[in-house]
Amino acid sequence: MEKKEFQAESHRLLDLMVNSIYTHKEIFLRELISNASDAIDKLAYRALTDDKVGVERDEFKITLTPDQIARTLTISDNGIGMTHDELEENLGTIAKSGSLQFKKDMAAKDAGEGKSDVDIIGQFGVGFYSAFMVADQVTVTSRAYGSEEAWRWASDGKDGYTMEPCRKDSVGTEVVLHIKPNTEEEHYDEFLEQYRISDLVKKYSDYIHYPIVMLMHKSRQKPRPEDAGEDYKPEWEDYDEWETLNSMVPLWQRPKEEVTQEEYNQFYKEKYGDWEDPLRVIHIRGEGMVDFRAMLYIPAHAPYNFYTRDYQKGLQLYSSGVLIMDQCPDLLPDHFRFVKGVVDSQDFSLNISREMLQHTRQLKMVAKNLEKNIKNELLKLQKEDRSKYEQFWKAFGTQIKYGVLDDYGSHKDLLKDLLLFWSSKEGKLVTLAEYKDRMPEEQKYIYFAAGESVDKIAALPQTERIRDKGYEILYLTEEPDEFVVNALGELDGKAFKSVNDEDALPATDEEKAQAEKQAEENKDVLAFVKETLGDKIHEARISKILKTGAVCLTTEGPITLEMEKYFRRVDPEHSGDMRAQRVLELNPESEAFAALRTAVDSDKEKAGVYAELLYNQALLIAGLPLEDPVRYTQLVCSLMR
Ligand code: ADP
Repeated sequence: MEKKEFQAESHRLLDLMVNSIYTHKEIFLRELISNASDAIDKLAYRALTDDKVGVERDEFKITLTPDQIARTLTISDNGIGMTHDELEENLGTIAKSGSLQFKKDMAAKDAGEGKSDVDIIGQFGVGFYSAFMVADQVTVTSRAYGSEEAWRWASDGKDGYTMEPCRKDSVGTEVVLHIKPNTEEEHYDEFLEQYRISDLVKKYSDYIHYPIVMLMHKSRQKPRPEDAGEDYKPEWEDYDEWETLNSMVPLWQRPKEEVTQEEYNQFYKEKYGDWEDPLRVIHIRGEGMVDFRAMLYIPAHAPYNFYTRDYQKGLQLYSSGVLIMDQCPDLLPDHFRFVKGVVDSQDFSLNISREMLQHTRQLKMVAKNLEKNIKNELLKLQKEDRSKYEQFWKAFGTQIKYGVLDDYGSHKDLLKDLLLFWSSKEGKLVTLAEYKDRMPEEQKYIYFAAGESVDKIAALPQTERIRDKGYEILYLTEEPDEFVVNALGELDGKAFKSVNDEDALPATDEEKAQAEKQAEENKDVLAFVKETLGDKIHEARISKILKTGAVCLTTEGPITLEMEKYFRRVDPEHSGDMRAQRVLELNPESEAFAALRTAVDSDKEKAGVYAELLYNQALLIAGLPLEDPVRYTQLVCSLMR
């Protein structure tokens, strides 16, 4: 017999389980049944392509056996089983990437910050350990498919576990729980009672699509003997009968009207290990070229790894209730990769290979249909429950924006209605359609301004003129926003326009003449500023976009300041090529400009200081770092002398 220590992380987790942080101890059964069902799924999948499996479809089952005398509850399955190494790896360690997050959440919970009753157990692939909430000894006997030998793993959930070879006649796994003795607060005995067990199966595991059977001990009246006389008293007898406890009808096969929200949510949380209810359920029955059912969920928050490479999109694909692919990526476009759920269609053949499957026309048709449904559901949510939609947007808005940019913008028409941007007018997130509907007739463009935060954008001097006109400005605060607006180009004939654009507000002939005159009069000032600042700027110009502010920074060419910041962050080494061509805009009506004007005429040294100061101020307003902060402070101090 081999004796092993638990890996440190497992140890901590077990501690938590044994000392039971969790009030719904009963969910251990759901977890173990779900493991059994997964194991059967795996073997059933094998059987599709491998005729040596030798188990018929209708022979797959999960058996529950309570034994009140021995105080054990046994959960056995004829699934794929585990080898020696798999037993060790799966039950002796937590090798999952989620474990860290789990520990964090647990720490928060320990500190009393977490919700008191969140279902975190299923979430991080630690379901098996929940057995130790009700058992003081757990034995797992398993024989893997394709192997002659069997192994027994046993543990009291404290220090470690033992492993020994044993005999097992058939492939599969048997989990024996030695149920804890009752305490004053906890009545563990209930987990040995057949009716309680049967109720738990109905409550949590009803739709599991393999029979969950239990030998039920019952009693019945004996048939009345034919020769029974007047004074015959009915007699009772005990008998045992196998009973299937679950209805096995998957939730998605049931008519929508018959499924409660609670059932939808329960399924979601258990299957996808989320502790929070989904924002929306989409239950679809598709008919036509392909008949299918789909049950899709929009989660309420992004999984911790959603914006990393670890996250994999996909829906489970069933054919007539049989799982044929656990995560079929082709059913979901990237822009909706956050959606979870299942698709079931008898039109997909069971024997199809995975590669083939990726190319079937039917799959494409279903995917198209789902995409349309998801979009419509999101639009509905946007109209019916804005705060929920905003919650969705907070979680997955960035994904939608990247969706607009993906594939050369080919999804932009589908996705544009889903976008939200901050509005200067409403002081909240608005849709593009809402913006457009409010536009005064004479307003030519849809205005936007980009920056780090709403407050910083609102303070940009170049937004003033447009707001004063009563026009709404979309404040773009996220990295992809400007790219998104560029990709869209226009909305129903109205072009997007940056507040930095010289011609953002159409000028009258009079204004144009006035601007030209000012530029001409101040030619020498502009030339001086450009000469002083050299390569730092592309051009100095008399601004047409400022109202009261003295300076601002705009750009010439395709790269804007926000884009430059983005490139600098994602690719610092090559960001030099991606530098925005800076234009220093000067307001000829400002006092600062008048001072500069005078200095250029009378004191070139002072004028040089002013030019540098103005440039640095423009950088600060734009949210860009000063290139030489020490020199900047020296310049300011020199003015105080
Ligand atoms: P999860 O099921 O979320 O992955 P668990 O801790 O419940 O996490 O189980 C760990 C792993 O042990 C499973 O992923 C599976 O590979 C294996 N396992 C558990 N129970 C069984 C079983 N009855 N048959 C085969 N493998 C199992």
